[in-house]
Amino acid sequence: MIESNTQYIEKKTAIVIGGSIAGMLAARVLSEFFEEVIIIEKDPKSTKRQLRKGIPQGAQGHVLLKSGEEILEELFPGLIDEMIKEGSVPADFANDLAWHHHGSWKIKYDSGLSIIQQSRTFLEGHIRRRIDRIGNIHTLYNTKVKGLLTDGSRVTGIEAETADEMVEFSSDLTVETSGASSLAAQWLKKLGFTTPEKTEVKVNLFYANRIYRKLSPIQREWKSLLVYPNPPAQACGGGISPTEDNQWMITLLGYGVKSPPADNNDFLEYAKNLEQPHVYEAIKDGEPVTDTEVYRFPALRRFHFEKLKSFPKGLIVMGDAFCRIDPVLPRG
Ligand SMILES: Cc1cc2nc3c(=O)[nH]c(=O)nc-3n(C[C@H](O)[C@H](O)[C@H](O)COP(=O)(O)OP(=O)(O)OC[C@H]3O[C@@H](n4cnc5c(N)ncnc54)[C@H](O)[C@@H]3O)c2cc1C
Repeated sequence: MIESNTQYIEKKTAIVIGGSIAGMLAARVLSEFFEEVIIIEKDPKSTKRQLRKGIPQGAQGHVLLKSGEEILEELFPGLIDEMIKEGSVPADFANDLAWHHHGSWKIKYDSGLSIIQQSRTFLEGHIRRRIDRIGNIHTLYNTKVKGLLTDGSRVTGIEAETADEMVEFSSDLTVETSGASSLAAQWLKKLGFTTPEKTEVKVNLFYANRIYRKLSPIQREWKSLLVYPNPPAQACGGGISPTEDNQWMITLLGYGVKSPPADNNDFLEYAKNLEQPHVYEAIKDGEPVTDTEVYRFPALRRFHFEKLKSFPKGLIVMGDAFCRIDPVLPRG
C-alpha cells in the first residue's frame, strides 16, 4: 500500500524519462511524494489504441499477469472494471485457456482467478487517461532526453531535445524508464561512471501478429489457445486470445527460425505447419483486420547497476531500461 499524502512531500521535482508503462507507474507513485512530476516522452501523445514508434513491441500480443493487474488496481482504483466495461475480456487462465505444451493438453480447472485480456495500446491508453487526471503530473511529449546533468556525485536533471531547441530541466530525483533502447549506461559513462555489466540470454525469438474480427465458424471450447513449442527440438508455436472490440489477437512465434512469416500468406502457412492444427483451423476461414506484424526479440537482457562501485545519487533505472524479459516465456 502506498501511504499518502502531502505530509510526505519533501522534494520539489521528479523527472521520469519515458512515458510508457514503467514511466507512468513510477510517476503515479512519485506524485505522492513530490510537488511536481514531469514525464518526458519522445513520442507525440497517442490516443487509446494507437501504435507508436517508441514502442516497437506495441502490436504484439501482451498478457497482463495477475500481480501486474493487482498493482494497477491499487494505484488506480476502479481501473480494471473500467477496462472490462470498455472492452477488456476477463478469463480464468486455468479454465478458459486451451494450452498444449510438452506433448499434451494441460488439464483445465476452475482456479477462481481471473485475468483480463486486451491489446497493449488499450492498456497503455487507459493508464495514460488516469495519469492525465493527476494534477501534479505533467507530460512533455515530442521531447527526447539526450543526457543526464550532474554535480559530480548526484544527478541533478536532464538535457533534452525538442523540435526547436535543446533544453535543461533540474530535478531532485530522475527516474530512467526509456525502455529497451535505454542509453543509461552510455549516459553514466559520459559522466565518468563505470558502465554496468550486462547479462544476456539469447533466445532468437520472433513474434508475428494479426488481429482478426472473426474466427472460423468452428466449435470452440476455449477463450484463449496456446500451442507452445519445446525449444530447441521444437521451434514453432502460436496462440489466440480475445481482445477489445470483440476481436482476436493471433500470435505466431518461433525460436531460431530464419524466416518468420513475411506476409499474410506466410502467416497462414506457418500456422498450418504447427504441431497442432488448432490455430490454423481457427483462423483459416476467419476475417483478419490487420496485416502481419513481425517483432524480433533477440535476447533477454539485464544491466547490473547494483554491482557498480559508484552510482550517482538521485537516479533510479527501472522497467525494460533495467531488465528486459518477455514475461510470458513459459518455463521448460
Ligand atoms: C514481443 C514482446 C512480447 C511481450 N509480451 C509481454 C506480455 O505478454 N506481458 C507483459 O507484461 N510484458 C510483455 N512484454 C514486455 C513489455 O512490453 C515491456 O516489459 C514493457 O513495455 C516495458 O515497459 P517500459 O515502460 O519499461 O518500456 P517501454 O514500454 O519500451 O517504453 C519506453 C518509453 O520511453 C520512451 N523513450 C525512449 N527513449 C526516450 C528518450 N531518450 N527520451 C524520452 N523518451 C524516451 C519511448 O518512446 C517509450 O514511450 C513483451 C515484450 C516483447 C518485446
